[in-house]
Parts: sequence; C-alpha cells; structure tokens
Amino acid sequence: MAIQRTLTILKPDAYRAGNMGNIIALIEESGFKIVHALLFKFTEKSARQFYQVHDGKDFFAGLLEFTVSDKVLAMVLEKENAIADFRKLMGATDPAKADPGTIRAKFGTALPKNAVHGSDSEANARKEITYIFGEFASIPSTEKNHAKEY
Ligand code: ADP
Ligand code: MG
Repeated sequence: MAIQRTLTILKPDAYRAGNMGNIIALIEESGFKIVHALLFKFTEKSARQFYQVHDGKDFFAGLLEFTVSDKVLAMVLEKENAIADFRKLMGATDPAKADPGTIRAKFGTALPKNAVHGSDSEANARKEITYIFGEFASIPSTEKNHAKEY
C-alpha cells in the first residue's frame, strides 16, 4: 500500500469545545504525520465551494451555516493508506452511528456537528488539499524540508 495524503478539517464544534488537542493526539497516536496545518475561518463563499457536491441537498444550508460559525483547523495528513485509514478513524458521518472509539463517536454531537472532515478518495484529497493549501501543498515531504531548512 502506498503512502498517501488526505485532508482533515477539525470543524467549528471541535474548536468551540476545546477538543482540538485531544483530536490531534488521537490522529498522531494512529500513525498519521501532520504535513501542513492552517487555522482559519471559512467565508460563506469558500464553504459553498468546498462543499459544492452537496449543493441542492436538504442539509446544505445548515451545513454552510455550521461551517462558517467558527474557526477550523485544516491539516494534511500523511501515512500509508491515509485516505481509507482516516475515514475509519473518523467514523460514520452521523456521530450516533459511529463506532465506539472513533473521532466522531468521541467528539461529534449531532449532525452536522461531527467534529471532523476527511477526504473520501484520492482525487478529492488532491482537490481539497490544493484548495486549502495552494502552492504549499506541493512541498514534497517533511523530512526532506526539515533536513534542508534547519
Ligand atoms: P462525510 O463528512 O462523512 O464524508 P458527507 O460528505 O455525506 O459526509 O457530508 C458532509 C457533511 O455534511 C457531514 O460531515 C456533516 O457535517 C454534514 N451532513 C451530512 N449529512 C447530513 C444530514 N443528513 N444532516 C445534517 N448534516 C449532514
Ligand atoms: Mg464527504
């Protein structure tokens, strides 16, 4: 299985509840390496674009309102099989249906407040990483950069 990168976003509910540190600890304990990170607040326009595949669904307006409601922490995570493994660590979309021990079971409350986002495919991971991190996303690997710059 190849080394992959995935995008996670720790959502406004996690930020407000002060759960960022605990979620990051779980992510690191599960073997993911944080390659890039950015704390920011979505604008209505950027939230709409990020979640455009859901435009037209009945929960879209509520999802947008929630997404812009507070700061979020976007991180690029690297690991073997990162995309599927992070989906597993994250748990089912609905926190009530997420397996015990998953991030959403532990830190989600009720939809849309499920604490984290995780990319669902290689194509979407690439697209989402580029959308949030732009040219920084092309930096090859943490080890290489550290060796060069420090
Ligand atoms: P996932 O985040 O597991 O990939 P989706 O891509 O289907 O799930 O949905 C994107 C986000 O929209 C979810 O993480 C959740 O915050 C919200 N959402 C999904 N389904 C619902 C729903 N039925 N009601 C309210 N919010 C929802
Ligand atoms: Mg999704």
